[in-house]
Amino acid sequence: MENNKISKSDFENMKKRIDELEVLVDELVKERNSTELTLLPWIGNLGQWQWLIKSNQVFFNEKKVTNLGYDINEVPKDIGFEFFTEKLHKDDHEMVMQNMRDHLMGKRDAYEVEYRIKSKDGTYKWYYDRGKITKYDENNNPIMLSGIVFDISKNKKIEVDLKLANEQLKEYLIHDDLTKTYNRRYFNEKISLLDKNKVSTLVLFDLDHFKKINDEFGHDVGDKVLVEISSKIKSLIDKKGLLFRWGGEEFFILFEDMKLKEVISITEELRKTIEKCPLKTCEQVTASFGIVQINIDDNINTLIKKTDDLMYKAKRAGRNCIKF
Ligand code: GH3
Ligand code: MG
Ligand code: MG
Repeated sequence: MENNKISKSDFENMKKRIDELEVLVDELVKERNSTELTLLPWIGNLGQWQWLIKSNQVFFNEKKVTNLGYDINEVPKDIGFEFFTEKLHKDDHEMVMQNMRDHLMGKRDAYEVEYRIKSKDGTYKWYYDRGKITKYDENNNPIMLSGIVFDISKNKKIEVDLKLANEQLKEYLIHDDLTKTYNRRYFNEKISLLDKNKVSTLVLFDLDHFKKINDEFGHDVGDKVLVEISSKIKSLIDKKGLLFRWGGEEFFILFEDMKLKEVISITEELRKTIEKCPLKTCEQVTASFGIVQINIDDNINTLIKKTDDLMYKAKRAGRNCIKF
């Protein structure tokens, strides 16, 4: 026992050594926060971190927390990864944790994620975070990870805005201005992408004596009738079919994965509804319909011609009826 006692001089030496190490660590932290990296133009966005896995200690440069609105003095000296992960957006939390687990288990070369993280003021920032195991113990178990993190909020905002603008543009491109039904462009696209393993059916209808409505009530009323009728039909077919304005007062309805028989009965309901539909804008409108079950070997022109022929047959048969 006597032998294990630390002599006074050993103790003094150890204390001196610890003091030296503390000074060294302080200097390193100071250097990391103030020199080289701070001179780089992109420092405004840069945070650095090291994570000691066993003791769960995270070391970081000031930027990593001041960027989130914290004063460095209000952040505890000794923090674990939870200080950051508890601030993750709930929709990103699991993805971030899984990415880290995958890296630790060797399923990924690096930990690499984009996530939203809550600032002190409650708003979220977008971070791009990338790290890697930088130290293993003698049994090849990871003991330390190092990484950098960028504030990518500005780029993300541009990305999100662009995505939204793109979606709006796509919507705009496939819709008809007046009736907000799909347009001819989208009709062509849909027909060309039809599932060859399913039987689909196509309906073409044209409003009867529509010219008379324009002549009697004016073009504006004619427009309103087109809007009213198409919105009525859209709600009637709901998700069963897609409504396209082919042009003028002619519309296609595509019933994907639906055979002729079923479409005939739905169309008969549509015809009756239009006939009975009390319009806000004028007395009454009827429509004539042509229906074909799509033969997948037909090209689009043949398909349109077949439906058109049937629709005209309905016109010749006195209008307000269906031909198939
Ligand atoms: P039918 O029963 O034979 O189809 O007779 P119709 O009068 O409907 O046929 P026609 O093709 O001769 O006339 C269609 C009319 O639809 C002519 C055109 O002025 C009108 N029309 C086409 N597009 C629009 C539109 O966007 N708004 C309005 N108000 N009228 C339109
Ligand atoms: Mg017409
Ligand atoms: Mg017409």
